[in-house]
Amino acid sequence: MFRVIKTEGAARRGEFTCPHGVVQTPVFMNVGTQGAIKGALSAFDLKEIGCQIELSNTYHLHLRPGDDVVRQMGGLHKFMRWDGPMLTDSGGFQVFSLAGLRKITEEGVTFSSHIDGRRIFMGPEESMRIQSNLGSDVAMAFDECVENPAPYDYAKASCERTLRWLERCRAEHDRLNALPDCVNPGQVLFGINQGATYEDLRVWHMKETAKIPCGGYAIGGLAVGEPTEVMYQIIEAVEPHMPADKPRYLMGVGTPSNIIEAVARGIDFFDCVMPARNARHGKLFTWDGALNIKNERFKLDERPIDPHCDCPVCRNFSRAYLRHLFVAGEMLAMRLAVMHNLYFYNNLARRIRDALDAGQFAAFREEYSQRLAGRAE
Ligand SMILES: [Zn+2]
Repeated sequence: MFRVIKTEGAARRGEFTCPHGVVQTPVFMNVGTQGAIKGALSAFDLKEIGCQIELSNTYHLHLRPGDDVVRQMGGLHKFMRWDGPMLTDSGGFQVFSLAGLRKITEEGVTFSSHIDGRRIFMGPEESMRIQSNLGSDVAMAFDECVENPAPYDYAKASCERTLRWLERCRAEHDRLNALPDCVNPGQVLFGINQGATYEDLRVWHMKETAKIPCGGYAIGGLAVGEPTEVMYQIIEAVEPHMPADKPRYLMGVGTPSNIIEAVARGIDFFDCVMPARNARHGKLFTWDGALNIKNERFKLDERPIDPHCDCPVCRNFSRAYLRHLFVAGEMLAMRLAVMHNLYFYNNLARRIRDALDAGQFAAFREEYSQRLAGRAE
């Protein structure tokens, strides 16, 4: 199901096979939280911008339209007309970041919906049932994501509970996949490593998590307030304990530079809302660094956003036109900007794969890791 084709240092070039297709890794997953990409992109557009795998959100789709509705519509693939690979997150992160009035017990979490305040209970079994109804190819384990910095004792108790929750996820997931009317019986479960910024907890938790057979393993709870260097240190500490024959997913990360650096540390899967969110504010990525398209200096600029980009937006429109759309508050501004930024991220992953294929990843990292963190002139 996952095979490592080639390595360069700790970096891996791989191939992940799931019921809706084959994913070439390293890969960036495109975030369609509620079954749509924020910025008015549909599943058709995802094909156009080189998306290999789409990511949707358990918490949001459970609240609206309800996973029972999605199930009755034949699962999320059919509902949103995306026929490629799909991953759903477990809802854990949103329960702990968006929902109000949380109460955590061994059983799970009771919280208030951020939409209407309704009280909802979600535990490992509920999260597995929702993701089974959605019918994604990869379901994520239900975990607790603690804020950084977290007190040591709390982080320890929390990751011990997350481990017990993974055992319950494993059992419920197996039961659901065996049901005759399961939407996607080929769905696999990924476990999630937690432990805040404490290396000893992270390593202990990863070793224990790896004992529970999963289709892949993720590192969660990073890029939530800790310095970037701390994030890299945690990845370096955890990585040797992640099964080498399974895909590794760094959740919610990050900038183009973060992605290159995490690939260099052995990560295969990424997702982040940053490219779409930045695009909606006019902040666009280019191979020479980022730029803000709303800037006055682009008023008469005939060049595309990035002369080195061959996305549908850069092939057709000028910076001057994009800037005008933003200044005029046209919806099209966001749509085109999001399209370019997601294409940029998908293309970044593709270029990382090409570099690995050619045995040139070290040179690629040297050339781009710093440059992409800067501002374009
Ligand atoms: Zn472009």
